[in-house]
Amino acid sequence: MARYTGAVCRQCRREGQKLFLKGERCYSDKCAFARRSFVPGQHGAGQVRKKVSEYGLQLRAKQKAKRYYGVLESQFAHYFDMAERKSGMTGENLLRILESRLDNVVYRAGFAMSRKEARQLVLHRHFTVNGKIVNIPSYLLSAGDKVEVKTTDCAKLKECAEKNASRPVPGWMTKDLEKMSVVVDKLPDRADIDFDVAEHLIVELYSK
Ligand code: SF4
Repeated sequence: MARYTGAVCRQCRREGQKLFLKGERCYSDKCAFARRSFVPGQHGAGQVRKKVSEYGLQLRAKQKAKRYYGVLESQFAHYFDMAERKSGMTGENLLRILESRLDNVVYRAGFAMSRKEARQLVLHRHFTVNGKIVNIPSYLLSAGDKVEVKTTDCAKLKECAEKNASRPVPGWMTKDLEKMSVVVDKLPDRADIDFDVAEHLIVELYSK
């Protein structure tokens, strides 16, 4: 499976905001963005930012969304196609699709410290959806789906869930910490998604 292998924190610094890609470290004072919130590279620090073109803004919005959800280019383009075919606002549809990925729901529910870790846990067959094991991180959940931890005695999962117990769970899902399960009550609207991205710029980019 193809994946990004470059420096992770560099992506946050490039996009000018924390993307929470590294789990616990992101919440500590070791966060690279908190320490060096300028663009990476030799000419990053102290450089006056040039005026960014319209295309540049659109490209950055797309890259930010891709990196936040840990999705590669071709899959992101595929999601955009799906979003366009649905009724309603394409940008909102796109974010809703990305949010409904199994790895995202596992992360949002607090069963993993990052989406990357959630992906790995799903690949290692730690989760069931409606009672059946699903090991596909990109599996798209629907309203009413129930995600459960297969065996609640997995030490790593328990540790994650305990560490994240106080992290707020989005209003569109209901989590049962004791049973280590989460139910997707509904798919999120834009107002339910706390990701700071101008999705209309992504739509403009793909509509060229
Ligand atoms: Fe981004 Fe996390 Fe690295 Fe901070 S620690 S720069 S939030 S990936």
